[in-house]
Amino acid sequence: MATKTGFITGTGFYALPGATEVRPQEVVTPFGNVYVELASMENQEVVFIPRHGKRHTISPREINFRGNLWAMKELGVERILATSVSGSLVAAWGPGTLVLVDQFLNFTDGRAETFYPMNGRLAHVDVTDPYCRTLHEQLAASAEKLQISLKSGATYVCMNGPRFETRAEVEMVRRLGGHLLGQTNYPECVLARELAICYVTVGIVSNFAAGMQLTVTATEVIENIRKYGDTVGNLFAALVRDYPEHGDCACRHALDQAEL
Ligand SMILES: [Zn+2]
Repeated sequence: MATKTGFITGTGFYALPGATEVRPQEVVTPFGNVYVELASMENQEVVFIPRHGKRHTISPREINFRGNLWAMKELGVERILATSVSGSLVAAWGPGTLVLVDQFLNFTDGRAETFYPMNGRLAHVDVTDPYCRTLHEQLAASAEKLQISLKSGATYVCMNGPRFETRAEVEMVRRLGGHLLGQTNYPECVLARELAICYVTVGIVSNFAAGMQLTVTATEVIENIRKYGDTVGNLFAALVRDYPEHGDCACRHALDQAEL
């Protein structure tokens, strides 16, 4: 049986590249109704959620992260490939660079970041490595086959937004070891782990972070992302085509010793 794949995309991607037979659907969750699209990709059933809504109307702090992840689980999704448009803190990673994220630093507050307590129980999940290693390796291999340059080894810094960061904030997180700066990857990755879903993020560099270039404008960010849509779509399709079955994974056992 093929593993059901979910895609969650951010800024610039409001339709799933390479998807056919797209069927919009509302999924009822304990956290409110969630808009999803069921679709076919490489002859497999996939699920798609545009994180900011179909018309980019949901700001980073208003995203229903719990609802989105719950809906994925409800629909039988076992692995998620997410994209996060990011500012780069690394001089060598200019606009258009695709980067597999390995770690995060969280600077958000006020977001609903856990499903627990659930059914009266608490859990403390292990996020030493918050992203799925298997997905990471599969994507790296698919990218190599397609001759897509995909960097790895990034620490993603998550800020609240929706404003961009100050020069001083950028300097601070750069000194702390951050490589990419964005507003949406946390708590999405952690909520996936709490539901034992494999999850990986590809950061798409749209610009250098504020302070490393003169100013950052939203228009510039969007223009840069549009240029890379096809490459990202090819990577999505390659994962589903090259690795239809995910097999067992440490992420599936995230709750084995986590619940109290
Ligand atoms: Zn996994």
